[in-house]
Amino acid sequence: MTVSEDKPAGPDVILQKKKQYLIPCVYHFYRDPPQIVSGKGVYLYDHKGKKYMDLYSGVSVNALGHCHPEITEAICRQVKTLQHTTTIYLTEPMVNLAEQLAGVLPGDLCRTFFCCSGSEANEGAALLATLYTGRSEFLALQNGLHGRTKLGMSLTGLSFWRTDPSPVGGITHVPSPNCPHCPFSQSYGSCRFECVKAVETAIQSSTSGKPAAMFIEPVQGNGGIIVPPPEYFPGLRKTLDKYNMLLIADEVQTGFGRTGKMFAMENWGVIPDIVTGGKALGGATPIGFFSTTDKIAASYTRPGASTFGGNPVTARAALKFLEVLQRDDLVERCAKLGAVLRSRLENITRQCDVIADVRGLGLMIGVEVVDGKDSTASEITDMILEQMKDEGFFLGKTGPGRNVLTFMPPLIIKESQLVEAVDALEKILQTL
Ligand code: PMP
Repeated sequence: MTVSEDKPAGPDVILQKKKQYLIPCVYHFYRDPPQIVSGKGVYLYDHKGKKYMDLYSGVSVNALGHCHPEITEAICRQVKTLQHTTTIYLTEPMVNLAEQLAGVLPGDLCRTFFCCSGSEANEGAALLATLYTGRSEFLALQNGLHGRTKLGMSLTGLSFWRTDPSPVGGITHVPSPNCPHCPFSQSYGSCRFECVKAVETAIQSSTSGKPAAMFIEPVQGNGGIIVPPPEYFPGLRKTLDKYNMLLIADEVQTGFGRTGKMFAMENWGVIPDIVTGGKALGGATPIGFFSTTDKIAASYTRPGASTFGGNPVTARAALKFLEVLQRDDLVERCAKLGAVLRSRLENITRQCDVIADVRGLGLMIGVEVVDGKDSTASEITDMILEQMKDEGFFLGKTGPGRNVLTFMPPLIIKESQLVEAVDALEKILQTL
């Protein structure tokens, strides 16, 4: 087999090489997957030139679509000038990016450490919380996802993503504020917020009484697009304050406009002590970061370095990403478009036996599929995904049962394109 950059090898060759050379854990979507060769705006193109509307954005990464001309230009200019030095030498893009982040982060969060992935960001945040509090235990939510590293995976509360047979100790998972599937079998409106109380119970019963911090995703992404009720985060903040614990918001998936606010925690007016992020910020180049206050940052003074963290190319891409996001009012636009998408999805699924729920915030929307007469919810989800792909639309899939169709399109998507996608889904649902 030859290596060609010009002529696509095609899916069969790629599948064969994947099978032969990659670790088998690297899985892919679709029974009949296309080879993706290029992207522009909200579209991806395969080896045969077929066009797909990308409604998943590489899992919440391509917020400005594919190959955004201004980001591409910024990257190319930097690549031709200076690519890499590490942080032991002074370069300007990294500090400018930290300055810009301080301007958009909520509250007093003003100091940032850059790394290369969301997993690494969460590892760093856990270390920082330990340094600041002098404590080492953590709480996290069931159905949350925080990464693929040893600690990130141990913080993760989704069995699908917990491969490690001997996870890190000192982590207690508490029930998620999951109204559609309340772990306490209550209904929102008449419940007594057992999900908030469960945090204190866990601290008292399952820890030393002094955990360092609790990790949360403001909206659980891989958990199936779970939006906590309005009372949850204010209540959680009170409990954590009572035990002098830090609140670490993992905004890797929700950050930078995805939920209709710059950071998703702004939906509840609760300011975390540490925010972690990545994905969209890099304008499709690899990035991760954690940000905190002056006071907490002051506890981390011994040398810390991530070889590629804050590199000039990624920092330039991220600076351009933030500039365009704000200049084009994409965050506000996302809130409006999200409401349109959600109501259209509600309309087409109201009469549909296999759809139980439509939920989400901004352009982060989940459509939950349930078991049918002859197939399980997850089989039906796969069927819908495959047919949507054949019709030229890429959707995501999340949830503990892998049964939540997930919409996280680029924030630059047009309303007419969303309508087109919903129409295609409606046709497929009618055939089920
Ligand atoms: N946190 C969340 C909420 C995520 O969704 C992910 C990845 N899907 C991660 C952390 C890990 O990020 P990465 O894959 O960049 O390490």
